[in-house]
Amino acid sequence: MPPSANIMTTVGHSLAGLSIGVLCLPRGRAWPVPAAVLAACVLLANVPDYGFFWGQGTYDIRHSVFVNTGLMLPALLLFGLWRRGRQSIGGWPVVIGGIAAWWSHLLLDSTYNHGQGVAILWPINDATSLCLPIPWFQTLQQGSKFTAANLRTFAVELVCYGGLLAFCVLIRRWRRQPGRPPRSALNHSCKKSPRGPDQARLRLRSGN
Ligand SMILES: [Zn+2]
Repeated sequence: MPPSANIMTTVGHSLAGLSIGVLCLPRGRAWPVPAAVLAACVLLANVPDYGFFWGQGTYDIRHSVFVNTGLMLPALLLFGLWRRGRQSIGGWPVVIGGIAAWWSHLLLDSTYNHGQGVAILWPINDATSLCLPIPWFQTLQQGSKFTAANLRTFAVELVCYGGLLAFCVLIRRWRRQPGRPPRSALNHSCKKSPRGPDQARLRLRSGN
């Protein structure tokens, strides 16, 4: 597999990371915290493609679940043990969102239509172990980035993952609707209500 034949765009990965970030954003925080969470999710969703010391253009070593788990482990330990630090970024939802953004990269790379998939079990197994090709997802062609085929690749990812981002924004807006009771209040009332969760929701909305 020639490395230069598998150049991927960052558009899909970045929008997927942004979508996950939108879903896990902490509420009631000053803007630097949500902005940092969104930026972190975008960066984390692209980590396996960063060059660093592990080379570029392969779907094995830098797309391995073992390698990536090892890379994220220090941060997981830090936020797992340091409660104050974890709360400062929004708690476990943000930590889990960051992990999901990072993992999303492997899933997205498996969808390219070249059908080479990703060797996520490297080095135990260097054969393709995750391959979910979708016909309209292509990798970039070599040479100039501004060919018609490459522009189409950018556009397809922009439309598909832009749609995912819009969907996640809608979900977040729906969850923040003023008439919608907080989940904690709803759970508390549901537990206490002898008439079940539906009656509890009605009582909450009517203010009784
Ligand atoms: Zn990749």
